[in-house]
Amino acid sequence: MIDAGIGLRLIASALATHDLLLSDLSGIVLTHEHSDHIQSAHAISKRYNVPIVANPATLNVIYRRCTDSPNIKLATGDRWSIGDLDIETFPVPHDAVEPVGVNLYYRPSGHKASIITDAGHVTDAMRAAIRGANLLILEANHDVHRLNAGVYPGYLKARILSDRGHLSNEAAVALLCEHAMTHGPHTAWLAHLSKENNTPKLALAYAKATVAVETGCPVVLDVAKRDKPSVSWTPGVKPLQLNLF
Ligand SMILES: [Zn+2]
Ligand SMILES: [Zn+2]
Repeated sequence: MIDAGIGLRLIASALATHDLLLSDLSGIVLTHEHSDHIQSAHAISKRYNVPIVANPATLNVIYRRCTDSPNIKLATGDRWSIGDLDIETFPVPHDAVEPVGVNLYYRPSGHKASIITDAGHVTDAMRAAIRGANLLILEANHDVHRLNAGVYPGYLKARILSDRGHLSNEAAVALLCEHAMTHGPHTAWLAHLSKENNTPKLALAYAKATVAVETGCPVVLDVAKRDKPSVSWTPGVKPLQLNLF
């Protein structure tokens, strides 16, 4: 499981839809220490003996609060193999001690999924990390105009808009377009949408219109809901790589 930022019962019922129990988890990979990513991690880890997997800096911050959970240190950039999956992390710019994005490689078919939430801007390291991904799960946190006109206090707006804040719809969709132009058709889920400064309808409509106009490339787009399981992915035929550019 990647992050555990919602309540224990919600996670348990989401796993149950796949006939899984919390005790079936092999590990909880944490992207960073903010509460909307770790809320239930300690409880699951301790109760069901599930290791928390994170880089040493993140573990260090979390374990000031959770000294008695099992853990696995995964240095940023390293890979952890579990069953048929290879899990690799890469740096993202965000106001946490050592935040990461996550790549999942499914060895039997060669499919790759990349997850980036909580990133203030798109870096070359992020572009390199998501190369060839068949599924992109990408933060589309806010609509910039909505955020600027909204009720958040100035300091919070500045934090969100900063280089170590959150990706806007515009920044996320620009990266999606780039990915489609370079790597061809893929599936993308917009994630980590702000409740105040975005709506699933707005983000999805903007992404669909922009990707169609800018790339002409078929990208299957959806929005991952904030607090319940909403999207699932069955890898189809691996898309062909485009060698046009
Ligand atoms: Zn965060
Ligand atoms: Zn977050």
